Amino acid sequence: LLEARGLVKSFGDNQVLRGVDVVVPAGSVTCLIGPSGSGKTTVLRSLNGLERPETGTVRVGDVHLDWADRPGTRAVARLRDQSGMVFQAHNLFPHLTVLENVTSGPVLAQGRPRAQAQEEARELLARVGLADKADSYPVQLSGGQQQRVGIARALATTPRVVLFDEPTSALDPELVGEVLRVMQSLAAEGWTMVVVTHEMRFARQVADQVLFLDGGVVVEQGPPSEVLVEPREPRTRQFLQRLL
Ligand code: ATP
Repeated sequence: LLEARGLVKSFGDNQVLRGVDVVVPAGSVTCLIGPSGSGKTTVLRSLNGLERPETGTVRVGDVHLDWADRPGTRAVARLRDQSGMVFQAHNLFPHLTVLENVTSGPVLAQGRPRAQAQEEARELLARVGLADKADSYPVQLSGGQQQRVGIARALATTPRVVLFDEPTSALDPELVGEVLRVMQSLAAEGWTMVVVTHEMRFARQVADQVLFLDGGVVVEQGPPSEVLVEPREPRTRQFLQRLL
């Protein structure tokens, strides 16, 4: 469903991605793990064009971009439409209600009828356990609830793939579980997901494949039962040991 090949990206002199491949089958969950600064977020943002790699290709559904061709903003916008993104901090619009936040994508960006978008948004809010918060404002919600609204908003445009950038790392520890449970239920429903995370338990339980990045390359990849339990590469082992 999603296939990125040979992603190379620098910020100034700092080459952050040195040829990264990511292949995500439909209906599967891929977790990107690795030390701070290894390039996980940059990989994720390259999958939807929030970052523009210098070279490499990305294919999602029927959209195909070769970054070396310097695709224009319209081509990148088509790529972006294929995915929903959940950020570290939820990025909700503070002046809009929860319902308005969730319908903003389908109504404003996709031009879908408001009544239909609202009905679907209420269903999504029920799925993330927030049916009763539709008319609240973000500031009236806990961090975990805000992040669940962020997830509902990412799903509202019915993307092919949902990208999560450390969705629980800004949350108080007691709020992490509710967000991970929602993500686990989405995985069980068959959403295609790519998740940058430091939550190894989540990766072990939910991921179909784990990619371990270090220094801008994928050092090791495979099912969590291999990468997280019996890693082959010394760098993966060191990383996991430091987490214990
Ligand atoms: P973390 O777990 O800390 O979020 P990460 O693995 O997600 O790390 P990235 O956020 O992808 O790593 O960053 C990789 C490198 O790229 C870092 O050295 C970072 O400083 C650098 N970097 C990221 N974004 C930018 C930017 N917009 N401008 C300059 N440097 C950047």
